[in-house]
Amino acid sequence: MDNPTSPSRHPTHAVRIRNMTVGGSAPVAVQSMTNTDTADEVATAIQVAQLHRAGSELVRITVNTVEAAAAVPGIRERLDRMGLDVPLVGDFHFNGHKLLASNPACAEALDKYRINPGNVGKGQRRDSQFAQMIELACRYDKPVRIGVNWGSLDQDLLARMMDDNARRPEPWDPRRVMDEALIASALDNAARAEELGLAADRIIISCKLSGVQDLIRVYRELARRCAYSLHLGLTEAGMGVKGIVASTAALAVLLQEGIGDTIRISLTPQPGEPRTREVEVAQEILQSMGLRAFTPSVVACPGCGRTTSTVFQELARDIQSHLREQMPLWRERYPGVENMTVAVMGCVVNGPGESRHANVGISLPGTGEVPVAPVYVDGEKTVTLKGDTIAADFSRIVDDYVVRRYGKAAL
Ligand code: SF4
Repeated sequence: MDNPTSPSRHPTHAVRIRNMTVGGSAPVAVQSMTNTDTADEVATAIQVAQLHRAGSELVRITVNTVEAAAAVPGIRERLDRMGLDVPLVGDFHFNGHKLLASNPACAEALDKYRINPGNVGKGQRRDSQFAQMIELACRYDKPVRIGVNWGSLDQDLLARMMDDNARRPEPWDPRRVMDEALIASALDNAARAEELGLAADRIIISCKLSGVQDLIRVYRELARRCAYSLHLGLTEAGMGVKGIVASTAALAVLLQEGIGDTIRISLTPQPGEPRTREVEVAQEILQSMGLRAFTPSVVACPGCGRTTSTVFQELARDIQSHLREQMPLWRERYPGVENMTVAVMGCVVNGPGESRHANVGISLPGTGEVPVAPVYVDGEKTVTLKGDTIAADFSRIVDDYVVRRYGKAAL
């Protein structure tokens, strides 16, 4: 999306992952992670497909056991048969070096390896196991993410840095030492990976924390110190509104400063909530900030005492879900449709004005107003709807507009 007000991006290496690029001048990418048992090949392939169809441009799966590693090639094959060219990222902890070495088909089928330097091994084994992972990445020509997480920070490194700090004439605040330990863990391991032969443009780094201010502080510093492509996310963001708000607060600040090449929203799904919710939230953040466009935007007023019936809320909700549901098809058929805006307004106070600014807009009758709903298309009033079929009629007008305005024949 070409937006002259978009912040300029912090320059990073462009990392090629299967069919896409993360970093450099590539748009900020959306990623997600499955919560199925990877050893369950069918369930995992289905969830990867759902996440990808919802808009996840990379999908990470945990590879934690021999059975999970054995299932990876089959998951890839199933996705290929569905025609889904989505990059698959393998998430490794503790035993990644063994799983990849003993299962070449898994190592080949994955498009990127995620290594957590805090969970590679202890003491001397740590260095050799990390080196094995990087050598495998070089052998199979795969990029890696060196993903540090404050919940699993390398405790030897932290203890060493705390000791060094105690010897300072004026010791730092422990929080600053923790920041430094996270950053050192990411950057030192990235430097080690380069020494082992992995190019800088095959490395993505992340330093995830669960505090908003902590995350902002650490990423600003990371961006100042390196040109590695950065994966951004507030870890363990939580559930529902809290998780969404905390993630948005942290990511919006950093993205506005041009920091972040790929994002993931680590939402805990509420019971019954689809896993794809995290993809929707990631897209909404990028779209609200004008960084990317994924789905037509619905502009809706909040409603007030002038809207005493539920018609207005129902129409806004139905239109929003209709647009989102159509997108997998529309994206192919109607290029540019993601930039469309649809206004659904509750009364004549702001309704006609807002509707005129949208591609298609409707102003519903407020309480006590004549029960008619003027519709605006490209700023002009085209029709006035009334009766019980307002919602269906408006939906049809939106669909017709999409075909006329964005259909390839119209170009
Ligand atoms: S447009 Fe009308 S219904 Fe909507 S918030 Fe404003 S005054 Fe209330």
